[in-house]
Amino acid sequence: MYSFEYQRATDPNAAVAALAADGNAKFLAGGQSLLPTMRLRLAQPSQLIDVTRIPALKSISVDAQKVTIGAAVCHADVADHPELRRVSPGLAELAAHIGDRQVRALGTLGGSLANNDPAACYPAAAMALDATIVTERRRIAARDFFVGMYETALAPDELIVAVEFPVPECAAYEKFRNPASHFALVGVFVAKFASGVRVAVTGAAASVFRVPELESALSANFTPEAARAVTVSAADLNTDMHASADYRAHLIPVLAARAVTKAIG
Ligand SMILES: Cc1cc2nc3c(=O)[nH]c(=O)nc-3n(C[C@H](O)[C@H](O)[C@H](O)COP(=O)(O)OP(=O)(O)OC[C@H]3O[C@@H](n4cnc5c(N)ncnc54)[C@H](O)[C@@H]3O)c2cc1C
Repeated sequence: MYSFEYQRATDPNAAVAALAADGNAKFLAGGQSLLPTMRLRLAQPSQLIDVTRIPALKSISVDAQKVTIGAAVCHADVADHPELRRVSPGLAELAAHIGDRQVRALGTLGGSLANNDPAACYPAAAMALDATIVTERRRIAARDFFVGMYETALAPDELIVAVEFPVPECAAYEKFRNPASHFALVGVFVAKFASGVRVAVTGAAASVFRVPELESALSANFTPEAARAVTVSAADLNTDMHASADYRAHLIPVLAARAVTKAIG
């Protein structure tokens, strides 16, 4: 690893100012993606601005309409929050199955969304639940946030402060996980709202995406059978050492059906 400076920010504006003052600095959350990248010498920031001690980024608030989670909240705290579990169990369950115990104790919601790993779980929840990503300067709808593989709408010096997730009637996430990392080979988040059903898929393509065929089938008939009857095209899906595009296309309705069963159960 190359050498770097470390500083701990105590408020969002100080963190952004510190980053702006050094053109080659990066925000540091739990380091679960950034530090391995630095160890492999694929990134060489001159300075890391630790955002995990900023109180505004550490809180969770829950009401009947929405769940607001600070960007520096770790996955374990999302999974264990009693009120969040009650109003949005699908979101809490997703967090409970990210990586292993150590990853869940250090990895954060903001780091996960900013990184936009194509196999990460939270982007599927953000898309399906129609979340809003709140930064220190603006609000970004999830549909505008995920731009491509490891690419988001964030400016280089923009800090995610919190994420607002609307509360659905019911929702669930199912992933076919890579047995080594627990990342999603394919992950499907299904969310039912009064206005209709939203389905988002991660792990299958360059970035998270919605599946209109599943959404209209499930909006008409919210049953596992309706999900299973949908065929998803493999045309834009990934083929890699873990699975072919055809296999991933097959998994999407299968996992959507399991998510519906879980959501109604
Ligand atoms: C072994 C292992 C298994 C994993 N399994 C899964 C899994 O099953 N599912 C899954 O979804 N994820 C998984 N992850 C990813 C993990 O959950 C983390 O969420 C992810 O690595 C981001 O880590 P972090 O929060 O520590 O961010 P960091 O690594 O500290 O930062 C990641 C990037 O985000 C930027 N950043 C951090 N915080 C902010 C912010 N508030 N605003 C703007 N930019 C910011 C950083 O500058 C950096 O570019 C796994 C990781 C590991 C190491």
